[in-house]
Amino acid sequence: MRKKLIAGNWKMNQTPSQAVVLADALKKTVSGKEAAEIVVCPPYTALIPVRDALKGSSIHLGAQDLHWEDQGAFTGKISADMLLDAGCTHVIIGHSEQRTYFHETDATVNKKLIKALAGGLVPIFCIGETLEERDGGRAFDVVKKQLEGGFAGMKDAGHTVLAYEPVWAIGTGRNATPEQAQEMHAFIRKTIASLFSAAVADGMRILYGGSMKPDNAAGLLAQPDIDGGLIGGAALKADSFYGIVKAA
Ligand code: 13P
Repeated sequence: MRKKLIAGNWKMNQTPSQAVVLADALKKTVSGKEAAEIVVCPPYTALIPVRDALKGSSIHLGAQDLHWEDQGAFTGKISADMLLDAGCTHVIIGHSEQRTYFHETDATVNKKLIKALAGGLVPIFCIGETLEERDGGRAFDVVKKQLEGGFAGMKDAGHTVLAYEPVWAIGTGRNATPEQAQEMHAFIRKTIASLFSAAVADGMRILYGGSMKPDNAAGLLAQPDIDGGLIGGAALKADSFYGIVKAA
């Protein structure tokens, strides 16, 4: 049985002081008895204050990216060790916004996955097609290529969590239907079985992301291959984020 995972990607929102207010509200709301594991991924400057605010709660801390080098002259970048020392257990890798705006490629995703796993961080590896690719009938090929490229040369996927985020559903209010998402998640699981093994595929959690909200979460999370959610907009309010947690 795969335990469901609900992760909040706060993106470039929340100053450190705002983030503490949100973390405090979440800590008050979460009982620790939820069926799903819960992760929040604030911006870097809020990681340590959020870690401190969440002390004693069951909510895990994640970052939104990392660099594959250990240290050195890489202005603007942050290493796995820095994230671990700041209390992170998870890290988002390959988000479509990184791919679209910041030159993320399957090759850089690959290096980041290897580094995160070596450091003991759980990668949340994002994949997903654009609207043009879906309309052109290429969605499955695109996702397969992202998986093959991201996992290239890796014999072990460790505790990697996947997040299927169709780009056309992110921040648009237009979520994939449960059937559309399930179809892709089943395809992703089949692809993981061919890249690694049936056992790895069976154990790997595959989250859905893209306009997931409290009112559409239950339908998506009821699908057999949807093991949780990666939440953007709805993660910025404690009550809507918790509404999704409860649906899991
Ligand atoms: P929204 O939930 O705002 O559509 O964002 C999804 C996302 O990109 C999470 O990583």
